[in-house]
Amino acid sequence: MRLFLSRLHFPVTTLGPGRRAGIWFQGCSLHCPGCISTDTWIHERGQTTVADVIQTISPWLHEADGVTISGGEPFEQLEALEALLIALREEIGPDKDVLVYSGHTWEKISRRLSTWAGLADALISDPFVRSGSQTFVWRGSDNQRLHLLTELGRKRYSDSRHALRETLPKALDVYFDGDTVWMAGIPEAGSLTQITQALADAGFASAASDGDPISPQPFPVFA
Ligand code: SF4
Repeated sequence: MRLFLSRLHFPVTTLGPGRRAGIWFQGCSLHCPGCISTDTWIHERGQTTVADVIQTISPWLHEADGVTISGGEPFEQLEALEALLIALREEIGPDKDVLVYSGHTWEKISRRLSTWAGLADALISDPFVRSGSQTFVWRGSDNQRLHLLTELGRKRYSDSRHALRETLPKALDVYFDGDTVWMAGIPEAGSLTQITQALADAGFASAASDGDPISPQPFPVFA
């Protein structure tokens, strides 16, 4: 099955519990104001296959606590997302969870999710709202809802539903890929400006968007 991805990475420690394999879909037409992942908006870039994704992340899984699927907008590649979830469930075993992010509302995607019973353990729905408050863990704005979809999801995420960001250390995952610096996680409002300034001082030019960029996505900073 063909799909379009932005990137894969391990470990991701800021988008769900524990050390996780991260899968970022490519393509998003929602265009939330303030999104810092505008590089993932373009569709039909980064073509790969579900089999190749599984092959790439497979060596990571014995160390991983779970898998996080973000974007971009995963639900804009419905058939590929379903195929990936099926393949992941077969690959990761019963003790690792799958968390999916979507910018769509729960009301829009829940019918589809009901046909995927058992494939995703937790889902964070709803678009990022730049002017919204930002107090809950793993969410860019407080309108975003955490849904527990399986027994494993309830077991692993129940305490996180209303958990506050302040209960976790302030952290972003930062990793280097050639001359590109990537960050994953959810920066606090306004902090990206400081981060990109520090990187600029170190000789990197930022390609991140402006505004108060808060998003559960990675963003590229190009040297
Ligand atoms: S925050 Fe997520 S859903 Fe919103 S525009 Fe950015 S990638 Fe798309």
